Amino acid sequence: MSENPFLGLFQNLEKISNSIQTHLSTFIARPGNPSQTDNNALFSFSSPSKQSASSANFRTFRPEEVLKKAQGAAPVTKEELGRATWTFLHTLAAQYPDKPTRQQKKDVKELMAILSRMYPCQECADHFKEILRANPVQAGSHAEFSQWLCHVHNVVNRSLGKLAFPCERVDARWGKLECELRTCDLQGTLTKFGD
Ligand code: FAD
Repeated sequence: MSENPFLGLFQNLEKISNSIQTHLSTFIARPGNPSQTDNNALFSFSSPSKQSASSANFRTFRPEEVLKKAQGAAPVTKEELGRATWTFLHTLAAQYPDKPTRQQKKDVKELMAILSRMYPCQECADHFKEILRANPVQAGSHAEFSQWLCHVHNVVNRSLGKLAFPCERVDARWGKLECELRTCDLQGTLTKFGD
């Protein structure tokens, strides 16, 4: 029986289609591709803020990308974790409003309590729990909270034999996050009727 005359044509079409798919995926993953100029872009084809995680365009790391990123990675030290956490806390304090809402006051108190339970260094968490007991969170205003935080950071500094930081300089050391159009302001900061 003679071979189907269309079979060859279909096979060629399939090869062309596979080739296009391969080249497209290579192009999309290429480092020079404008859609991948920052780390976030590795996760998706456009701004993560504009797409939900369940978006059809969401792309996960390829195994070779994970290995590349992990090269030279070492476990985080207690010191690195501490510096990162203090950076987070002092930046939060810098952005904490002069007139916080009731919810914001409740949130920072809860955040500190959670930190004292879940900080991923048991010795530090236990120590911080004691510090919180002796120095209850003061979060009535930006000034109050940033000074309180500076003080408790100094309590930790002192226990580690470090120099105390001059708390009158805290606003000069820790500024607000730089974001266009105040998009980094804390949620509720623009509310007029906070108590
Ligand atoms: P850090 O203390 O991490 O400070 C980072 C930067 O903040 C400094 O370079 C300085 O510019 C600025 N800074 C310093 N002091 C102040 C201040 N008072 N106010 C404002 N800014 C300041 N480590 C332990 O070994 N044992 C512990 O029990 C322990 N408890 C911790 C509890 C918490 C809640 C946290 C967040 C960390 C804790 N650490 C602990 C880690 C420790 O505090 C340091 O982060 C770590 O030793 C690295 O210190 P560093 O000298 O690099 O500066």
